[in-house]
This record gives sequence, C-alpha cells and structure tokens, in this order.
Amino acid sequence: EALDKLIDLKGSIRVFCRVRPSISTSNIKIKSPVTVEQENILVRAVGIKKDFSVDRVFDQESTQDDVFHDVKPILRSALDGHNVCILAFGQTGTGKTYTMEGTSDNLGVVPRAIQELFSHAAQDTSSTYSFSISMLEVYMGSLRDLLAPRQQPLFRSTEGNTTCNLSILATTSGSVQVEGLTDVAVPDLKKANQWYCRGRRSRSTSWTNVNNVSSRSHCLTRITIRRCGGVSEQVSKLWLVDLGGSERLLKTGASGLTMDEGKAINLSLSALGDVIAALRRKRSHVPYRNSKLTQILSDSLGDGSKVVMVVHISPSKEDVGETICSLGFAKRAM
Ligand code: ADP
Ligand code: MG
Repeated sequence: EALDKLIDLKGSIRVFCRVRPSISTSNIKIKSPVTVEQENILVRAVGIKKDFSVDRVFDQESTQDDVFHDVKPILRSALDGHNVCILAFGQTGTGKTYTMEGTSDNLGVVPRAIQELFSHAAQDTSSTYSFSISMLEVYMGSLRDLLAPRQQPLFRSTEGNTTCNLSILATTSGSVQVEGLTDVAVPDLKKANQWYCRGRRSRSTSWTNVNNVSSRSHCLTRITIRRCGGVSEQVSKLWLVDLGGSERLLKTGASGLTMDEGKAINLSLSALGDVIAALRRKRSHVPYRNSKLTQILSDSLGDGSKVVMVVHISPSKEDVGETICSLGFAKRAM
C-alpha cells in the first residue's frame, strides 16, 4: 500500500491555496469572508456559504518559508530526473508574484529553488549537475524570449497583434521545445540569479504602448537540470510559472483592457484547467493543444512529472466573487 502511494505521488498534481494577508489601511477590522480550517477554506458572505478543500492551505500568517517547505520535496523529484511544474494561479493582486519572486527581504519560490538546486549539487558527490535557465512570456498567444541578447520593444498593433518570434516544436520522443528560445548555462548561483533578475527586468520594461501587461501575461522560468552519474545523463525541466490574472476581465470591464486580452488569458487558463482536470482523473485524452501555455508545458504536466499549483486568493469582501471562481478552479483540479 505504501508503494502504491509512492507510485501515485510520482505522477501527482498537488493543489495548494494561499490566502493573501489583508492590506487594509484602516484601523477598523472588517471580518474577512475567508476563513481557514486545516486544509479547508470556508467562504461566508451574505447569501454565500461555500467550502473548498485542497491539499494544503497557507493562511494569511504563512511565510515564504512555510510555502517553500512544502514545495521543496518536488524539487528533489526534479533533481531525480522528473519534469516539474510549479504554477501560481489567482486574481491580480492576490500574491502570485510575491509567492514566486518574493521581495529582496522575503525571497520567493524561484530564487529559493535556484539556491536549493546549487546547494544540492554541491552536496551530492555521486553525480555532477549542470543547470541552464530560460525565461519567456506568453502574451495573447505570442511567445517572447525574456533572455534574448537583443530585446526589441514590442508594440501592440491596432489589430491587437504582437510580434512573435518563437514557435513550439514537439519532438518524436514526446518532449517539447520552444524553438529559438535562449537557454543560458549558469555555472553558479550568482550567475543564475543575475540571469533571473535580467529576465524579470525585461518582462517589466520592454512593453511599449501597452498598460500593465504583466497581469495579463504568463511568465515562465525554466531551469534545465542535467545530471551526470557515471555514464548516464539525465535531463529534466523545472518550470516556475507566474500565471496571468484569473479575474473575469470581460465582466468587470477593467480599464484599458481589450476584448482580445481578456479572451486570451481566459482561454489559456481554462485550457490549463482542462488539462489538469483530465490528468487528475487519469483520462486517456489530455487536451494540451488548446493553448500555447499548455503546449509548452505538455511534457511537464503529464506522466512521470510533478505539478504543484498554488491558487492565490484575497481575504477581502469585495473580491469574494473572484475568490469563489479561483477556488472553483482549484476544485476542478482536485
Ligand atoms: P499578483 O502577482 O497576484 O498580482 P502581487 O504578488 O503583486 O500579486 O501582490 C500584490 C501586493 O500584495 C504586493 O505588494 C505584494 O508584495 C503584497 N503581498 C502579496 N502576498 C503577500 C504576502 N503573503 N505577504 C505580504 N505581502 C504580500
Ligand atoms: Mg504579479
């Protein structure tokens, strides 16, 4: 039975939920509609009484350490040769970037993961490891290389198109490649962090003519792990993904937003939900082809790979509708 559990875990998808702390500036404490009881999230508001359960809940008091503690075991799987995806999902402003990037005082999952890989490599005397990093942004179905040597500023044309210079290739062995994507070998932790910072900068600065793209694009960081033990070499991918905001843009009529942007993000997130739901239910057909996002991640979401999705929610009363939608997304993945 223990072995069955172990095997089951190997191909598993874990769903975590993190509740952002309340950031109210007023002294008056308004009761949050969101409360947590162990791994259950209760949402209570006028006319609303819903309960959700996930694999792990991080409440408002949770720290970056707490989150990383639960993410760490799957980094071991990546070092052992499995493809791994860590995905941050949720409404804009609920802490996806905080969880993944963190701040200089409170490092998030990505810098901690990078550090962990290098420290593991230094300790493991039976294998040698090498790492490389790629970063890309998926915006309205276009892929943009965040580590390309020469970055061209992107403009949105009147038709809503953006320039796109990368395409996705599926190889016969079942693995997926983003053609032309820069992949930089990083010999040490310092270099890895430098490239990661560069990718982050490039995400935030090079959009011209478009407002607040980061909430409407997916940011993917890929660490390729090559492990050499004697004659054999094992290659695995670790994907760290800061997803676009899940808010129902068309309904709320967010300012400065086009129909196309709203549709693109909703489509790719629902395609991701469909893929995860199919995998969790062990369906024979998994609909990877419905979005660029799921195509890119297709060899790292299925058999033999490990997935952790952290669904982020707001504690605020005003966001209760979005919170229920996000938890509904989590529920489909359970
Ligand atoms: P998102 O990426 O989902 O749009 P952010 O990560 O940018 O959201 O978070 C919005 C704001 O809330 C940021 O100022 C961030 O630092 C803060 N924040 C989010 N989560 C936490 C947390 N768990 N603890 C402290 N501050 C947080
Ligand atoms: Mg963000």
